[in-house]
Order: sequence, then C-alpha cells, then structure tokens
Amino acid sequence: MAQRVLTDSFARRVDYLRMSVTDRCDFRCVYCMAEDMEFLPRARILSLEELHEMARAFVALGTRKIRLTGGEPLVRAGIVELCAKIAALPGLQELCMTSNGSQLGRLAGPLRDAGLSRLNISLDSLDPARFRELTRTGDLNQVIAGIDAATAAGFTHTKLNCVVMKGRNDDEIADLVQFAIDRGLDISFIEEMPLGVITEHSRAEAFFSSEQVRERIAERFTLVPATDTTHGPSRYWRVAGAPGSRIGFISPHSHNFCATCNRVRLTVEGRLLLCLGNEHSMDLKSVLRANPGQPEKLERAIIEAMALKPLKHDFRLDDDVQVVRFMNMTGG
Ligand code: SAM
Ligand code: SF4
Repeated sequence: MAQRVLTDSFARRVDYLRMSVTDRCDFRCVYCMAEDMEFLPRARILSLEELHEMARAFVALGTRKIRLTGGEPLVRAGIVELCAKIAALPGLQELCMTSNGSQLGRLAGPLRDAGLSRLNISLDSLDPARFRELTRTGDLNQVIAGIDAATAAGFTHTKLNCVVMKGRNDDEIADLVQFAIDRGLDISFIEEMPLGVITEHSRAEAFFSSEQVRERIAERFTLVPATDTTHGPSRYWRVAGAPGSRIGFISPHSHNFCATCNRVRLTVEGRLLLCLGNEHSMDLKSVLRANPGQPEKLERAIIEAMALKPLKHDFRLDDDVQVVRFMNMTGG
C-alpha cells in the first residue's frame, strides 16, 4: 500500500501535529492568559484515550512529528503514560513537548523513559522577582532546576523559548543567550502574538521585533547564520565560539514561514486548527465521538480538513484582537 500523506490545497505536506493536552496551567503568563481564567469542564476536553486515538489517526496519515503542549502539558494527570503510548506509535519519528519547566524536576526522568524525544522550555527572565511578575505565579529556581533535571535525564537539543516585551525583559536578552550557551541549550526569541484579550499591557507598546533582538545580541556576541535549517518558523544563528547553542527568532508578524508551513494544531477540545492566526477549524471531537470503533471516519475528516488550511496568517499590531483564542487553547 502506498504511504499515506496529508497535503493541503497549496501542495504543502502536513506532517507535524501540535496537540494541546490541557488548557490549564500553573502559571498565568501576562502575554498568554488573563489573571482569572475560566478553564474548560472535563466533559468538553478529550480524554487521554481520545488524545491517543487522535495521535494514532494523524500518524496513520503520515504525521512524523508530534509536539504536546497546552496550557501546561505537565499538569495533565496521566501525561507520562500518554507520552509512552504516543511515542510507541509506529511511524512517528519524534515526540516533543513544550513546557514551562515547573514540573520537570519531578517528571524529566519518567518522560525520558516514556520515549519523549525533546523539550522546549519557556524562560522569559533570570530575575526571580521579574519572573514571578511575568508568570504571575512562577518560581524561577524551580524552573531552572527543571531545566537542569531535563539535561541530567539525558535530553539533548533542549530549546528555551523567550517572549520578548519592550520594557519588561528586553534588557535581559544577552544574559538569556549567555545562560543558554553556559548550558549548551538552544534559545528562540518570540515576538508576542495577538492571541486572546489581555488587559495587563498593550501588545502594541510592548512589541519588540526580532530585528531589535538580533541587534541587542550583536552588542555582546558575534552572530553567524546557522547552516542547518529546520522547517519550523525559527531562523537560526550561532554565536561565534559557542558551537553548542543555536539562537532562533520567531517572527509571526512577518510571513517568513507560511510558505513552508507543515503543521496543524489540535486543541484539547478536539478542534483542529489549520493555521495559528486564523479561525479555520474542524471539530474532530464530534467525529470521533459519533463514530466509535471506526477510525477510518476520523481519518477521512482529517484529510478533508486539509482543504481548509489557508495560505498564510495576517497578524496586525494595532492591538485589536484578531483571534479570540488565548494561546493556552492553541498551544503555540
Ligand atoms: N505552558 C507551556 C510553555 O509555556 O512553554 C506550553 C504552552 S505555551 C502557550 C507555548 C509557548 O507559547 C510558550 O513558549 C509561550 O511563551 C508562548 N506564548 C504564549 N502566549 C504567547 C503570545 N501571545 N505570543 C507569543 N508567544 C506566546
Ligand atoms: Fe502557562 Fe505556558 Fe501560557 Fe505561561 S505561556 S500561562 S506557562 S500555558
């Protein structure tokens, strides 16, 4: 039988799924969530079995990489067992996770044993008071211990993610690069995206472009373009004399990555999002629940959903919310 692959209307092969396993989180980062969030009731979210069934269907359709995200994936009970089941799906090449790191001290070892391949860990500040302010609840030392636990457990190519906001943490950019170099980690700097209504700050005023981040880094380090590329939205550089770390820039405000976009997202409500910046979506939970024991129905719906994938997203910076979802619904 010919290998099955997912392709959209613009001939892009879709082989990367980002799955949100919870909308809940132990942090309330100022760019991601409101202070008092209402989370989804249990009946509306996919069970662990349903998450596994979704992953199975995508892998059967040629998905090679899955990233588990949230919310904070490590606050979902049963996450280690879910990782083990997804990692064992034949044909899946990589199972990754994006985490805030708070639970990694406890879970890095079990996750590694379960077959998780790689971790992205968010880190926006190295100052404990500021870290608490930006995450509203987070403990910097616990997160750093989590990062070190991941390395001790054998994870390699761990990447730090830093959302840069003018006047909030832009003065720490070079220190964060040094932190990554000291630990042999990669680091990506992300422009804040207009996802969800927040009142804590003005996204337009806090905007700090990737170009400005690069200039900041160049004040202390010599950046050389990395020759190895990934198909993701990050463009990578290296610091001269520090071959162990790559520096990435994720710039959603430019269209640099839409042409090669290979990914779709599944919310924990079972809604398949074809593009981070658009509302095009398909309700896969209904398909799954209406057709128990008929995996081909779910696979057919996924194939049909590919026709909804738009050519590109279009974020503006005028502070109007263009996508009402918060980032914890889509998982970034
Ligand atoms: N809780 C995990 C974490 O923080 O890494 C995973 C989920 S979080 C939504 C995924 C990534 O999205 C994090 O790196 C976070 O910094 C980023 N993020 C959240 N809201 C964002 C926004 N409005 N703009 C840009 N990045 C955002
Ligand atoms: Fe939680 Fe991650 Fe959102 Fe921060 S960015 S509130 S850690 S889901």
